[in-house]
Amino acid sequence: MKPQDLLEAAKSLRKKYAVTDGEPFRLKHCDPNETSGLPGIKKGDSKELLEESVQMMAELQDMLYAQDHWSILLIFQAMDAAGKDGVIKHVMSGINPQGCEVHSFKAPSTEELDHDFLWRSMRRLPARGMIGIFNRSYYEEVLVVRVHPEILQSQKIPPELVGENIFEKRQADIRQMEEFLGRNGTVVRKFFLNVSKKEQKKRFLERIDTPEKNWKFSAADVKERQYWDQYMNAYESMIQATSSKESPWHVIPADNKWYTRIAVSGIIIDTLASLNLHYPKVDEKRLAQLKEVRATLMAETE
Ligand code: ATP
Ligand code: MG
Repeated sequence: MKPQDLLEAAKSLRKKYAVTDGEPFRLKHCDPNETSGLPGIKKGDSKELLEESVQMMAELQDMLYAQDHWSILLIFQAMDAAGKDGVIKHVMSGINPQGCEVHSFKAPSTEELDHDFLWRSMRRLPARGMIGIFNRSYYEEVLVVRVHPEILQSQKIPPELVGENIFEKRQADIRQMEEFLGRNGTVVRKFFLNVSKKEQKKRFLERIDTPEKNWKFSAADVKERQYWDQYMNAYESMIQATSSKESPWHVIPADNKWYTRIAVSGIIIDTLASLNLHYPKVDEKRLAQLKEVRATLMAETE
């Protein structure tokens, strides 16, 4: 694909999957198995397209780093086996490792529980010029904790502050925090990889039946699967409450891995392309200096 066509495709993918502010969002209207965002593109074309996307992303990221103004925060949330790890690995495969950081958030440590629920994430926000990836995030605080509210007891919050609307309040706090980040040059983009319950079962069985995948299998994941409907309700509420124009959620069909990867990389390209990135301009004084150094180097005899 020509770069201009790639940018157009990226834009249409973003438009298709971004959840806009205020829209009454319903998860049941999002088909996990759909692959229709790029007419004419099939699984067989996806490898080449992904390589082209990764190349474009790498060029944009180089400018992001050189310009050193914006930072990008990409957040990935999903049910187990939806393909977060694979997306992160493929999408970021061409990017300079010095300009990108991945953080995976598991159940919080004792030290982390001694602080507010955003603390551990705030310490890992990307610096200017950097792309930061959160593999799970503070959104777990309105997902796993909402589905298992008994977790709240381990969080040592003063009991009088744990009221009925605690999850709505957390969503409001997150929304404001992201607004603050946006106003300071951190561009937040959020991805929910929407896998179906049926496809998850298939992937769990693959993990059990394939020796090389056995290490990925966790009995705890199968236990969480029993709470599927509660998770979907929590996701729906979260997406509805925290999607904004500045930091939208994208609900990406995740039953076909090739498509998930292309859709996510398209949206990242569109995000970077919208920032008007360019290499820092060199002023007259610096140009003269470069000329001078050049002359010195050329005059060397060795
Ligand atoms: P993979 O299974 O592919 O290695 P993963 O992201 O599922 O990746 P795990 O170690 O299996 O990693 O799971 C991390 C677990 O930590 C998840 O079950 C998640 O819900 C849980 N977790 C993350 N953040 C919190 C939190 N703030 N409070 C409680 N549990 C959390
Ligand atoms: Mg897991």
